[in-house]
Amino acid sequence: MDDAQADIYDCVIIGAGAAGLCAGRHLLQHHNRPSPPSLLLLEALLRIGGRVHTTTLSVPSSSSPPSSVRVDLGAEFIHGSTTMINEMVRSNNWPTEEVFTAAQGDGGPDDAPTSDHQKYGVYYLGKEKKLLRYDDEDPDFVKMNESFWSLADLDPAEIDPEMSIADHFESQQISSRMTGMSNAGYSNTSAAPSLSSLSLLRTVEYERHWKDNDGCCQDDGGDCRLSNDMSMSDVIDRIAVDVDVGKNCRLGVKVDRIDWEGDVVKIESSAGYIIRSRTVIVTVPVKILQTPSLLFFHPPLPPPKVSSLSLYGMEDALKLFLIFREPVWPSKVQNCILSDSPIPEMWFRSTPSNLHICCCFATSTFASNLKILGEVKAVDIALNLLSSMFTNSPQQNKSHLLSTHMISWSSTPSILGGYSYPKVGMSESHVKLIAEPLESKVFFAGEHTHVGAGMTVHAAMETGIMAAQSVLNCL
Ligand SMILES: Cc1cc2nc3c(=O)[nH]c(=O)nc-3n(C[C@H](O)[C@H](O)[C@H](O)COP(=O)(O)OP(=O)(O)OC[C@H]3O[C@@H](n4cnc5c(N)ncnc54)[C@H](O)[C@@H]3O)c2cc1C
Repeated sequence: MDDAQADIYDCVIIGAGAAGLCAGRHLLQHHNRPSPPSLLLLEALLRIGGRVHTTTLSVPSSSSPPSSVRVDLGAEFIHGSTTMINEMVRSNNWPTEEVFTAAQGDGGPDDAPTSDHQKYGVYYLGKEKKLLRYDDEDPDFVKMNESFWSLADLDPAEIDPEMSIADHFESQQISSRMTGMSNAGYSNTSAAPSLSSLSLLRTVEYERHWKDNDGCCQDDGGDCRLSNDMSMSDVIDRIAVDVDVGKNCRLGVKVDRIDWEGDVVKIESSAGYIIRSRTVIVTVPVKILQTPSLLFFHPPLPPPKVSSLSLYGMEDALKLFLIFREPVWPSKVQNCILSDSPIPEMWFRSTPSNLHICCCFATSTFASNLKILGEVKAVDIALNLLSSMFTNSPQQNKSHLLSTHMISWSSTPSILGGYSYPKVGMSESHVKLIAEPLESKVFFAGEHTHVGAGMTVHAAMETGIMAAQSVLNCL
């Protein structure tokens, strides 16, 4: 059955996450034609935003009416200080709160606490039951952090693409005491199963990009989050206004097949109709692209693209929120990396309504193990870890607990995981092949098509703009 609109669209965008929405906005705002190109976004979910998703949790309270709190189930932090999200934040005067950069995946411990509230991160050695402050002088800890920081100083031309981060660490003689810490920090943040699956070359390329292009974590700004009950979804909602999603986007439409054989691309959806378009921008997550039974291309994707795609892994990412009436962590502690523990990362914040949130963040194997255990057991584990780290009793922690919520991103069928990580063997050239269009008809965007900025919202946004500009050049 053909779409009710007999016309052929100028561009159909598949996926209304950060990349798709930015692509749509660019097409509408930066064309050089008497009227804007005709545009349609198709989104499998019943909401926009993809991996940016804020929800409101209601929190029972005995003394006052139930209160509620907004939490980011997906992306939460604004990485860097000179990205297009930072620009949006500045131009809209949105309130932000600086974030201490704790996880080595986000750059290693900073050399100072946050400038606004003097908050800092701590590191928990699970086997030794020992807590280190970010500036602890434990020689093994210092050496590990220095090794992470100096990744950006390595020369990509001299790196064997078959080397993993674990191989590099071995050559640096990092103490095995820090293996669990680097897995909980760098590997968990990168969403890879272990440091031995993570490409050294690609990681160095990312780190150099951050250092050269954005100054992430090492300049005055550092990472931040929107504060005063604002969230990452506010970024998406702002873009959605410019795209006029009510008019230009269809929700709950899963694309099954893209036929790009003829002059016009035919897009078949689960709703059973066919939409025709001169161009298509595909922004679906990498795991969907890797699985022809989920999204079928005719003719098939070229073999170099398929083999490049296989060099990405994409595993689960899970967040567990614990909402307390009293903080059960020291007031200056903003986050923690936990080695040799079932939960590798936690971060803490207090809301304007005086609720105190602990977010446990786990990816890959950590996430699948917690998912198998289920929310009740995962909450017990978190309470026990909090009491081991901050020497208070689990019962006392439990008495302050008001509500919990757990989300696993592998359970969302049109996303199937957290974010992509580069496997050993991958380099920038593979990403360029993944992003390469098919005959000026099918274009690709999304976090996995960015050559530099890693798996972030602003990277996804930039790729959407680049793909949309390529479409405008062809129309
Ligand atoms: C738990 C978690 C925490 C994160 N934390 C951060 C953070 O703090 N900071 C940060 O910058 N980044 C973070 N990220 C990464 C960031 O969220 C992603 O890199 C970014 O949002 C990806 O955007 P995208 O547009 O490429 O993909 P998506 O947001 O996944 O958008 C793709 C869209 O395509 C749709 N789709 C898929 N298949 C089809 C189909 N067949 N038909 C129609 N539609 C389809 C999907 O439903 C989805 O909405 C986090 C991610 C997760 C999961």
